[in-house]
Amino acid sequence: MNMQVGVLALQGAFAAHSECLTSIGVQSVEVRTPEQLSSVDALLMPGGESSTMSQLLESSGLFDPISTRIADGMPVFGTCAGMILLASEILDGRSDQRSFSAIDISVRRNAFGRQVDSFESTINSSVGDFHGVFIRAPRIERVGDGVEVLGSINNEPVLVRQGNVLAASFHPELSNDARLHEYFVSITANRKKV
Ligand code: GLN
Repeated sequence: MNMQVGVLALQGAFAAHSECLTSIGVQSVEVRTPEQLSSVDALLMPGGESSTMSQLLESSGLFDPISTRIADGMPVFGTCAGMILLASEILDGRSDQRSFSAIDISVRRNAFGRQVDSFESTINSSVGDFHGVFIRAPRIERVGDGVEVLGSINNEPVLVRQGNVLAASFHPELSNDARLHEYFVSITANRKKV
């Protein structure tokens, strides 16, 4: 399948995700406008600062078209701040911060502490074992019935999926390991009907 995977490039760690996709032979497109969004089969939302991204999603006119594409079944993968953008409930968010409510989880921003409390940990998951880099990571405090927990650390979910929506509280693009990107590409290739 000749697919194009968009990487939301308004702010944050988008460049390293594009490199991961290129390394596995997938064409990636930086998405900053609704026109760019219309050419992609799937969208990756990187880490960064979710409240800033929320504002930029509004000012760029991307919020509503992304919401429509997600409702239509477009596969999305959110990492860290990207996961916050996909969650149905944000705890400790800014009052004007919006999310796509694409996956039924409640996430608490910055729950693992400040930048200096960032940590690395091995994640055992059904997709494989990963080296997880957690930077001011959100914590998944509630997982809805329709959500599969794919990976955890200390019995806490850190990698979850609901249909075509994948979310990770860590930064897979920083570990020199593109297996999770490969998994997302396989979700896109076998996209579930909604
Ligand atoms: N703390 C950030 C937020 O709330 C997320 C951190 C990250 O993406 N590394 O958006």
